Amino acid sequence: MMGKDCVLALDQGTTSTRCILFDEKGTPVVSHQQEHAQICPRPGWVEHDANEIWFCAQNVIREAAAKSPSSRPMALGITNQRETVVVWDKNTGEPVYNAIVWQCARTQDFCAEWQNTKGWEQSSTGSGKVKDKTGLLISNYFSGTKLKWILDNVPGAKDRAKRGDLLFGTIDTWLVWNLTGGVRGGIHATDVTNASRTLLMNIRALEWDEEMLDFLGIPASMLPRIEPSSHVYGETAKNVSFEAGIPISGVLGDQQAALFGQACFDQGMVKNTYGTGLFMLLNTGDVCASSQNGLLTTPAYSLKKGSCVYALEGSVAMGGATIQWLRDNLRIIDTAEDSEYFANKAKDSGGTYFVPAFSGLFAPYWDMGARGTLVGLTRYARKEHLIYAALESICYQTRDVLEAMQKDSRVKVSEMKVDGGAVANDTLMQMQADIAGLSVVRPMFRETTALGAAYAAGLAVGFWDSFESLRALWKKDRVFSSALTPEEREIKYKGWRKAIEKSRDWLSGE
Ligand code: ADP
Repeated sequence: MMGKDCVLALDQGTTSTRCILFDEKGTPVVSHQQEHAQICPRPGWVEHDANEIWFCAQNVIREAAAKSPSSRPMALGITNQRETVVVWDKNTGEPVYNAIVWQCARTQDFCAEWQNTKGWEQSSTGSGKVKDKTGLLISNYFSGTKLKWILDNVPGAKDRAKRGDLLFGTIDTWLVWNLTGGVRGGIHATDVTNASRTLLMNIRALEWDEEMLDFLGIPASMLPRIEPSSHVYGETAKNVSFEAGIPISGVLGDQQAALFGQACFDQGMVKNTYGTGLFMLLNTGDVCASSQNGLLTTPAYSLKKGSCVYALEGSVAMGGATIQWLRDNLRIIDTAEDSEYFANKAKDSGGTYFVPAFSGLFAPYWDMGARGTLVGLTRYARKEHLIYAALESICYQTRDVLEAMQKDSRVKVSEMKVDGGAVANDTLMQMQADIAGLSVVRPMFRETTALGAAYAAGLAVGFWDSFESLRALWKKDRVFSSALTPEEREIKYKGWRKAIEKSRDWLSGE
């Protein structure tokens, strides 16, 4: 029997690694997933075992392939948790330390000092030299200070790095190096979207920035080559878990992969992911828009060395996690899905607003001293109203980010593509259309991150021939349109802005 051609997507996330095989229609054929350990040696520190991640990657590829023996992989695409750092010895392939995860706060104090260093001062919305160079903020979120920490704290690491024995990579780089043979000639490369999250890449030149490397004390010799996102990096080397000779031809950080998987290839197109947090990206084309409103500037993807399409990015800490909090802390719902049932019973929030600023407010406010608040309570309010207000908070926070994006890009957004676990909630999607005053478009296939990696990989090898064919693969499930008048919408939103003010600066002066 003839095999069926497919593209293999490897999705290496914060909690698990997944492999999905897609056929030429972009339909998932099979998938396999495996979790890895979260290592928390101290409060606020988060690590992963890089060897375990590599082991999981081999396993999920082998298991997925075994479920569909007639599928013939024509290309392999990688998407990954961004910002997480691995440093390893190129002669032995052994990591010198656990991978330091994006969530890890160990370099917070260094970042606080850095912000006050002459020449590097940063305004409350993040403006300053780091923003100009990298599109990012001085924050322990990004890779640069995590890499510095390893060099400064692992005995001998700095000298070994200077001698050229150590390599640095984000998770994509670690996987590409291992997949292409590791110590036996592995390719040391990354794509622009991953490189852009390190604090080390100049966002306009799309090259490593000498001044950033100098400041953080990072030898250039340990850095990977920066390549386009849709590009043949190399071929899989002989391995017991997969065939040799599969081109690795797509690499994208997870949020950029979701934008790509939503076929947001044109300037002005937006996707919002509703998972634990919310991640919105707006394609700004070849415009590297500098945000005055608390957003990050980031490459969306690159098809050609030295150029890229840019995006503005806004992240919100508490998205679906707000619903988890209702379930696990207040215990007023049993499952996340129940939130829809109760919201439908309530029909509105009974005049209440709920701001879930549990760990401060991220974009566009960046107020780490904000804390959660519930306002507008009367004796009329019931648990159903609070659940309704919690769902609305997801939509209002999205609108806040959208407003910032429209100001920064001067683009009027009329349609937003959505993905992530919480988009299964129809009531939430309708609220979003009402509160933001735009069409909310939900795709049939919601695993857009893996799909984006597959699209990028398939495009590079001619499995799919153009953006046109990828656009044709993307299938709409449902469009939610606003049922509110502009006046009704603004009255509701005004209440939200008042509630936000109550939550802000709660910890200041303590
Ligand atoms: P992540 O990738 O960040 O783990 P997912 O995309 O899997 O997140 O989405 C899970 C999140 O979505 C959880 O925070 C959960 O509370 C929320 N969620 C899932 N289903 C619903 C629902 N029907 N209504 C509201 N929130 C939901």
